[in-house]
Amino acid sequence: MIDFEALAKEYGTPLYVYDFDYMSAQYTELKEAFRGRKSIIAYAVKANANLSVVRHFAKLGSGADCVSIGEVRRAFLAGIPAYKIIFSGVGKSDDEIREALERDILYINVESEAELQRVEVIAQELCKAARISIRVNPNIDPQTHPYIATGLHDNKFGVDLSSAKRMYIQAKNSKYLDPVGIHFHIGSQLTQLQPIREAAEIVADLVRSLQAIDIELKFFDVGGGLGIQYDNEETIKPYDYAQAILGTLRGLDLTILCEPGRFLTANAGYFVTKVLYEKQNGEKKFVIVDGAMNDLLRPSLYNAYHKIEAITENKGPLQKVDIVGPVCESGDFFAKDYLLPELHRNDLLVIHSAGAYGFGMGSNYNTRGRSAEVAVENGEARVIRKRECFEDLICLEQEFLVD
Ligand SMILES: *Cc1c(COP(=O)(O)O)cnc(C)c1O
Repeated sequence: MIDFEALAKEYGTPLYVYDFDYMSAQYTELKEAFRGRKSIIAYAVKANANLSVVRHFAKLGSGADCVSIGEVRRAFLAGIPAYKIIFSGVGKSDDEIREALERDILYINVESEAELQRVEVIAQELCKAARISIRVNPNIDPQTHPYIATGLHDNKFGVDLSSAKRMYIQAKNSKYLDPVGIHFHIGSQLTQLQPIREAAEIVADLVRSLQAIDIELKFFDVGGGLGIQYDNEETIKPYDYAQAILGTLRGLDLTILCEPGRFLTANAGYFVTKVLYEKQNGEKKFVIVDGAMNDLLRPSLYNAYHKIEAITENKGPLQKVDIVGPVCESGDFFAKDYLLPELHRNDLLVIHSAGAYGFGMGSNYNTRGRSAEVAVENGEARVIRKRECFEDLICLEQEFLVD
């Protein structure tokens, strides 16, 4: 049990708290699920890019899935070896591609024919053969929120099967391209096994048809997306997930690459915020807290549900409240019509499942400094990112002030 009151007292609020032991347990469970096959769990850095978080996964043997060169640099800084780092994303710039090739990472996940051409040109300039994987869009409905569905033809990710095949042939015929993997990622917060199985089946069939024309791949990259419990939803067990994927690979000798983000960190994280005021507007009761959408955007952005726990002396009857922050936007809320006991000034609210897409989606909107981040490991707490102060927010502007 984490003592949120003690942490709030010591480090102030709003505050992100991460349970590193929980992250370890999640990592180990997933790694174990693929036992019997070669596998690399490549942590999706964008879920929680804090250097100490990435270092924690590095120490467990994890690789990293990065979607910008900044994330690649973080992965290196955190001690993830180059041969376990992959670089994905629809819009890589020339500079990013060049640096990724210079750093000799495991492979670049290519998302379009135009990008394949750029990678080839840059690899030629560097006199290298670029290891690549192609992101296939298997046109499967992942049955998740439309904003986080990525495996349908009407969204921007990956290429269709026939383009992929063409691209593999082109890569095979190029001195500067080395096709080593195949990749798909159909969406995030997946809670149904069937779409994953179907996608894997389609992609495995493509691997077989490539084999038939002498293109031998090494890595079968199943993306991330494993869902977690925010509320009471049924989730996929890592063992069943692994079995569903492995079941599609009969006769294929491939290393599994898996890119979980949310699964590893979401439920390890808590966002702790303090009650400032309660206020009644007509029928509506608002609880105004010191954290806001600039700290944790998911409710505002996706109308996402987060469980909220009140730490209060008051055990009285529950009331329906909207929990809102100080930012000047009607969309600045953590929950609407949420049942909580009556609260007093300085009571704490602990927002659960905040370890993924929490801090990283934060901003300085309204000139608010971002929260501190604290890790809890073996019962000990330590700061892993300082609270931002006003000077941090203005330092890139101040020198340009003119009379
Ligand atoms: C975002 C992303 C992931 C991680 O998704 P989660 O839902 O956090 O597991 C993995 N791979 C790619 C390519 C992504 O874009």
